[in-house]
Amino acid sequence: MAILPILKFPDPVLKETSRSVERFSAELSIRVDGLLDTMRAMPGGIGIAAPQVGWTERVVIVDVSGHKKGGRQDNHGLLELVNPEILAMGGSQIIREGCMSVPDYTANVKRAQWVLVDALDRNGKQVIIESIGFEAVVIQHEMDHLDGILFLDRVTSLKTDLFRRKSYA
Ligand code: ZN
Repeated sequence: MAILPILKFPDPVLKETSRSVERFSAELSIRVDGLLDTMRAMPGGIGIAAPQVGWTERVVIVDVSGHKKGGRQDNHGLLELVNPEILAMGGSQIIREGCMSVPDYTANVKRAQWVLVDALDRNGKQVIIESIGFEAVVIQHEMDHLDGILFLDRVTSLKTDLFRRKSYA
């Protein structure tokens, strides 16, 4: 297990645009495992993006299957998405979001209801998934990190949609 420290807002690395992964090597696989271990070590860890641990390449991990809300909805279990791109999206939903890099706040954020994502797995094999509901929100949230966007940047009204939280859970 390699648990990596999570960068916290306003660390400037969180504002960077990550670059595409080009080499699908054993080293990549080890780094993906480190990201996965770090996500799993966090209470309520349902998603993580590589830049959150200072690794500015386009890799995200999502797994909502153990979440009290997301686990009951349609989901794909563990998703490791390298160089993910959204091919299509539609609808809208507003869900309360949190982030390991912004531990003191949650916020209501408007996202697409569903997304069609084209990505690669850690071996460079193509993965195409259609995701809906809670899982789709987590995918959009994590992919935003690859472009230096935090959920705070998507809050419509800081006055009514942003909430301070007492503990991360
Ligand atoms: Zn986040």
